[in-house]
Amino acid sequence: MNVPLPILFAVFILSNISVIYYLLRKYLRKKHYLKIEIQDFQEKINILNTENKQESKNKFGLEEKINRYRSLREIVEEIDQQLDIEYIGESLARIAFTQIADAKGTCILYLIDNNTQKLSIFKTKKENSTLVIKAKEGDIFDLWVLRHANPLLIEDIKKDFRFDLEKIEKQHERPVSSLISSPLISEHRFLGILRIDNSSPEAYLQDDLRFLTTICDLGAVAIENAQLFQRTKDLAIHDELTHLYTKGYFLDRLKDECKRGLRQDTVFSLLMLDIDFFKDYNDKFGHTSGDIVLKNLSNVISNFLKEYSPIISRFGGEEFCVILPSRDKNTAYKIADELRQKIEKAKIILRKHETHVTVSIGLASFPQDSTNADELIRKADKAMYEAKNKGRNQVCCI
Ligand code: GH3
Ligand code: MG
Ligand code: MG
Repeated sequence: MNVPLPILFAVFILSNISVIYYLLRKYLRKKHYLKIEIQDFQEKINILNTENKQESKNKFGLEEKINRYRSLREIVEEIDQQLDIEYIGESLARIAFTQIADAKGTCILYLIDNNTQKLSIFKTKKENSTLVIKAKEGDIFDLWVLRHANPLLIEDIKKDFRFDLEKIEKQHERPVSSLISSPLISEHRFLGILRIDNSSPEAYLQDDLRFLTTICDLGAVAIENAQLFQRTKDLAIHDELTHLYTKGYFLDRLKDECKRGLRQDTVFSLLMLDIDFFKDYNDKFGHTSGDIVLKNLSNVISNFLKEYSPIISRFGGEEFCVILPSRDKNTAYKIADELRQKIEKAKIILRKHETHVTVSIGLASFPQDSTNADELIRKADKAMYEAKNKGRNQVCCI
């Protein structure tokens, strides 16, 4: 059967079109599936990226934790067995500043001053070394920590309604926007505050404050031990009644001064003071009154000689010994005689009576009279007895 050519051609074209159509559909479907697959992959990549980021963050957090534990061990090793308070304070401030603040901003360690019972700056670490800290006894944040005996985190001073912004602006000579601060407390005794601040807000996290508090807990024990040791040492070298140096400590210092004098070719003088007729005074007013006189007299001596950087001791019952550094015999004589007059004029009120005492003073000088400590003491003592023999209330030298 003969099929006409146009029909054959039409059939050919139609079959080609359907093949092409079929292939095109197949291709489009595949493209569609591929697109979906790519999207799936993209989504998986995104999830993996997020997980990766979280892992890195965790890793960084863990590394930081390890570093912090390492520095805690460093603190324990550094301050354990340490009885030098300067060293302990320096370590605490340095570690807090480098490990928490990344050496940015300012770190201040305050300790309670035993005389004033107020905060007093003990150590500072500053990013900007020219920065001046004017609040020597602490600002309102430090006083808050002192009053509440609790750690403090301020993320942004402007947004923290616990504190009066006007007061802060008046007090602060340096820009502070965020801070962490922790008290140093040992056995319920408030020893001080360790604080870090920054001019930018949100410089610290809760984790930083936790780390600072741990440093403070370790530091408080070390500081208390060092202070106790210092107090024991002070008691051992100071006389209980007058708080002047004891004879033993004074003699050690005198030997040191002699060595230093020989090494550096310097001069100094030694005064030996003895109260005149003190036995009569005791007999008249009683031994307790005599003790009050000894206390008063040591204050008069310390205050009058303050400007000469003296080393003063209660050498015996009612005898005092003084080293006047860098003073030759002539200058020391003038100073000693002025002191004698000052003591003579000093009023001592006992049972509502105004009383007075006088002293006899012996003087010996290094190296003029001797370069040996024992010999200097002997000569000053001899000079003092000469002053007694010449009628008391005077200064004598050999
Ligand atoms: P002189 O002028 O010769 O020094 O006479 P003096 O009476 O002061 O004699 P001396 O220097 O030997 O002083 C000894 C007296 O000092 C004995 C004692 O009554 C008194 N004394 C010594 N130590 C103390 C003390 O700790 N407290 C009191 N209240 N008196 C003391
Ligand atoms: Mg005497
Ligand atoms: Mg006497």
